[in-house]
Amino acid sequence: MNLEYRCLKCGSDRYIVKTAVIPEKSPGLKIEIGTYYVKTCVECGYTEFYSAKIVDKEFVKNKKGKRYAKATP
Ligand SMILES: [Zn+2]
Repeated sequence: MNLEYRCLKCGSDRYIVKTAVIPEKSPGLKIEIGTYYVKTCVECGYTEFYSAKIVDKEFVKNKKGKRYAKATP
């Protein structure tokens, strides 16, 4: 994962990313396993969660956008 990041609390751009697997249960449905990226600011410890499902989709979109930008002078 490569997201633009600036800590909301202290403005640092240094962070670590870990992957967390969390069981998700909606009423009436089977338990599903959701993957999340956990970004922790190394300066102050502020932590954000991102849904991997959505982030990876966005990442593909961005890649396509970059390829298009390169082809256009
Ligand atoms: Zn911070």
